Amino acid sequence: MAYITLNKNNFFNNLDIIANRTKSVDKIALVLKDNAYGHGLLEMATLAKEYGVKKAVVRTCKEAQKVESFFEYILVLADNTTCENEKIRYTINDIKSIKEFPKGTKVELKVDTGMHRNGIAMDELEAAFLKIKEAELLLEAVFTHHRSADEFTSEWFWQRENFKKVKEKSRVLAKEFGFSELRFHSSNSAALFRWTNFDEDMARVGIAAYGCMKLPNALHVEKFKPVLSLWANRISSREVKQGHRVGYGGDFEAKEECVCVISNYNFGYGDGFLRACANGYKTPHGIELSGRISMDNSSFVSDKDEILVFNDAREAASYAKTISYEVLTSLKADLNREIV
Ligand SMILES: *Cc1c(COP(=O)(O)O)cnc(C)c1O
Repeated sequence: MAYITLNKNNFFNNLDIIANRTKSVDKIALVLKDNAYGHGLLEMATLAKEYGVKKAVVRTCKEAQKVESFFEYILVLADNTTCENEKIRYTINDIKSIKEFPKGTKVELKVDTGMHRNGIAMDELEAAFLKIKEAELLLEAVFTHHRSADEFTSEWFWQRENFKKVKEKSRVLAKEFGFSELRFHSSNSAALFRWTNFDEDMARVGIAAYGCMKLPNALHVEKFKPVLSLWANRISSREVKQGHRVGYGGDFEAKEECVCVISNYNFGYGDGFLRACANGYKTPHGIELSGRISMDNSSFVSDKDEILVFNDAREAASYAKTISYEVLTSLKADLNREIV
C-alpha cells in the first residue's frame, strides 16, 4: 500500500509565516476538518500542539472529541449533535437552529455577508441575539466566511465592509442583551493574506498551513511549503515492446522502437488518488504514468522500487483539473502516515 510522509519542518515553516501575519500564535485556529485535509487528524494535532497552536476548527463533534486533549479551544463548524465539553463551541448556521442547542451551550454565530451558503442574514442579527438570549446559550463570537478571497477582485473588500457593519451592530447588541464581550473572525487562509494589518481575534487557517494555498500571481505569498507527499512501492515490472498497450482499455501504447520497462505500483483510486490523473501525468521526478489509475494499481515508465507520486497537491490537482483541497481530502484515512 502507498504511504504518506508529513514534513514537520515545512509545516512549522508555514505556521511561522501565518503567525507573522496574525501577529500571534494564539490567533491561529488550525482547520483540521476532513482528517486534517487528508494529512491525518491526530498526526497534525500532535504537530500543531508541539508548535504551540492552541485553537482548532473541525466539522463535527466526533472530530472535536478526538483532538480535545490537544487544544484549548475547538470550533465545530456544522454538527447537529452536541457533546458536552468545556472546550467545544458550536456554530449557529441558521436562525431556526438556535432552539435546538441545549441550554448553556457555547455558540458562535455565523453571519452571511455575501457567500449565501451558511449563516444568518445580516438583517436577522437582532432577532438571532434575542433567540440566543431566550435559549440561554453562551454567545462567544460572531463570524463570517469569504466566498472569493482567493481571487484578485474587489469581492473580499465589500464582504469585509459588510462584516464591519455586522461587528459594529453586534457590539451594540451584546451590550443591550448583557452578553460578555464578543470575539470576531472572518479569515480563511486566502483572506488572511489579503489583510495588510490583521486586527481580528483569530483566523481559521487550513490550506496555507498545509502549504498548498494557490493565489493569483498578483496576490502571491512567498515561501509556503507543502507538508504532504505520497509515495508508492513497486509490485512488479515488465518489458513492453512497441505496440504493447498497458492497463485497462490499453490507453498507454509503447511507441519506442526500443524495449521499455513499465512497473506497477501499489496505489490507485482505492487509496484516494484521483482517477482523473491519467496518461500524461508525471511525478515530481518526471516519471510518466502509463494508462489509467486503477483501484489498487498504477503503472509508470520506471524500474524504480519506490516512487514519489506527488509532493505538491497543487500540481496533482492541475492534472486532474481540480483543486489541491480535493486531492488532499480524497486520500484515505487508512494510508500509513509518517512524520519526517
Ligand atoms: C474550510 C474552512 C476554512 C479554511 O479554509 P482554507 O481556505 O483552507 O484556509 C475556514 N473557515 C471555514 C468556515 C471553512 O469551512
